[in-house]
Amino acid sequence: MMKFPKYLSIQTTSLCNASCVFCPYREIRDLFPAKIMEEALFRKIVDECSLHREVERIILYLNNEPLTDPRIVERINYAKEKVPWAGVHILTNGSLLNDSLAEGLLSSRLDWIGISLHGTEPETVKEAMGLDYDLTFNRVLSFIDKAKAKRNIRDFVMLTFLRHKYLTPEEKDKSMGFWRNKGIEWVRYFDGPVSRAGNVSGLPPVRRNKITGCATIWANEMMHIVEDGNVVLCCMDWRREVILGNLKSVSVQEIWSSKEYALVRDKRDGRLDSGADFICKRCEAAIPAAAGQVKPKMRSPFLWLLLSFVCAFTIFYMTYFWAYMHLRNRIILGGSRK
Ligand code: SF4
Repeated sequence: MMKFPKYLSIQTTSLCNASCVFCPYREIRDLFPAKIMEEALFRKIVDECSLHREVERIILYLNNEPLTDPRIVERINYAKEKVPWAGVHILTNGSLLNDSLAEGLLSSRLDWIGISLHGTEPETVKEAMGLDYDLTFNRVLSFIDKAKAKRNIRDFVMLTFLRHKYLTPEEKDKSMGFWRNKGIEWVRYFDGPVSRAGNVSGLPPVRRNKITGCATIWANEMMHIVEDGNVVLCCMDWRREVILGNLKSVSVQEIWSSKEYALVRDKRDGRLDSGADFICKRCEAAIPAAAGQVKPKMRSPFLWLLLSFVCAFTIFYMTYFWAYMHLRNRIILGGSRK
């Protein structure tokens, strides 16, 4: 386990202005009131990162729309100023990219921006994302034009979308061509929504009896921090089921190497039993155990001591027995030769 997370995903605001059909946000938004992360907390996290060269990326979004944070440009610049060796990026639906925000982002130290738009037809955008098509596309296309003039568009803008019930195969192909015609080479399509550990009703739930790990980098290399400073297990943990500590009172380092975190990793990797409703058992990214494949974990130092003693005693006894038999044979053989 690395000493410090390589990647940190920080929810600087818990708000989103869209209502995508494949996203848990619509179902959880009333559980956690929309809030902006306190500046002191944000700076505390970034300042600690500035002491760790192993930090590779600071991701300023988590289960939200990052452009609803009125300080997002300032925060991008702060993260980049303090941790210049780390890449800083955001993922947005693009609908809030008005002229002033577009200028702010293009003049900021942001390394790259991902834009999630799950269709190119007005009806699809409205039904699947709950966004105003004309407003959103005018802003996104204007942003792309400005970005072409100020940045290397090839590395600066990524366009991403996924399969959902309103996107036909024809529109999927059309969308790929649409963005490429606009000069976006970095286009990513994901072939299917995921239930986000059972947090999207309407998508088939996953139930695994035994698991042996996580196929993603999220739990081993990335820390996920929500707006109030709580560290949650990963970006699937929309309901904040697994809280590993709060960064208002302790450090990133302390939470990352805490016993609580180790215990959850053990459950995720199948070394420890977890309840039937443990979040990873409901997640598409968990690696299911083959029948009978469970990694045992010896947790008690006493058991290790006992095992060591039994091994040592066995070795001693076998050596003694071998020496005794060897000596006895020599005496017998020696006697018979006489
Ligand atoms: S298995 Fe799923 S819920 Fe568990 S850590 Fe991985 S991504 Fe998160």
